Amino acid sequence: MLQTEILRVPSPIGHEAEIARAAALLRRGELVVFPTETVYGIGGNATDENAARAIYAAKGRPSDNPLIIHIARPEDAEPYAVTSETYYALAKTFMPGPLTVILPRKDTVPLSVTGGLETVAVRCPAHPVANALIAAAGVPIAAPSANRSGKPSPTCAAHVIEDLDGRVSMIIDGGECEFGLESTIIKLDGDEGTLLRPGAVTYDALCRICRRVQIAPAVLSMLAEGERPISPGMKYRHYAPNAALTLLDGDADRVLDYMLEQAKQPDTGFLCYDEECAHFPAGTPLFSLGPRNDLRVQSKRLFAALRLADGCPAIRKLYAHLPPKEGLGLALYNRILRAAAHQIRKI
Ligand code: AMP
Ligand code: MG
Repeated sequence: MLQTEILRVPSPIGHEAEIARAAALLRRGELVVFPTETVYGIGGNATDENAARAIYAAKGRPSDNPLIIHIARPEDAEPYAVTSETYYALAKTFMPGPLTVILPRKDTVPLSVTGGLETVAVRCPAHPVANALIAAAGVPIAAPSANRSGKPSPTCAAHVIEDLDGRVSMIIDGGECEFGLESTIIKLDGDEGTLLRPGAVTYDALCRICRRVQIAPAVLSMLAEGERPISPGMKYRHYAPNAALTLLDGDADRVLDYMLEQAKQPDTGFLCYDEECAHFPAGTPLFSLGPRNDLRVQSKRLFAALRLADGCPAIRKLYAHLPPKEGLGLALYNRILRAAAHQIRKI
């Protein structure tokens, strides 16, 4: 057990001493959790094999699931990845921001960081605390989501403390994450790309920069038994709540009627919309994701809602609306589909 120091750092301004201390820990190979605009990350020096091993151990993560390396500026990828014109075109529009780009690896990145792959994932976070910390560390920071493997990604410091207190040297509490779902991941091949994980940078936005963008099959559907995904993380069971989650596909009013019928059972909870809450009988376990038409808020609240549902052991079944696949909806669709282990019911 480590003694985990928990620091409140809402902004790098006025907190230079704390950032410098956290950066020194990272350079020494220790683990520091920090906020980003997507979710909290568990950071370690990406050029240090021991730090990479420590990250896998702290998360309980299989070591063939590669880590994303975080840099302060797009050009800081140069020593570690073979960049391209398309990388810089993406960087110009989306970095710093919630986009991860997969490029060929240079030897400076240990294979233990890339899960044995000859490619490396790079991201330049926009969160001012993350950016200041990475710049101060002066080394690239490997930083997967700061949850225990299998749990939803953490969107506030309380989630991180729940999962990693005693397993890391420091947790920097920078408040709630802006987006709440992990970064978009695109793998580049020349001026074409494959979308491996949808996020706040949408498919349409990527298509405006790349000549062509394919959506990896695992984004929308289940992998067949034994099938190898392009992104190793896709094969793992993710975000699954303790209760069995079913997604309801149909007209919103009919879905609400179906939910109200199911609400008669005491062991059933609902991930619903704000507008629907008043329709349910008092005492129904409700976890509202936000306003019906606000995908941004729904994305931001999903992981916290799944954790709240896990805090209610009496709930055996959960129902939620199936989100749209368009625009920002695709990221929410992809995460909630995994949480539901692909269980969809047509209404
Ligand atoms: P996390 O850091 O928890 O957000 O997860 C990182 C995700 O990025 C995982 O799903 C990985 O499989 C994926 N990833 C990281 N590096 C690569 C890579 N070189 N090639 C393909 N996928 C990658
Ligand atoms: Mg993760």
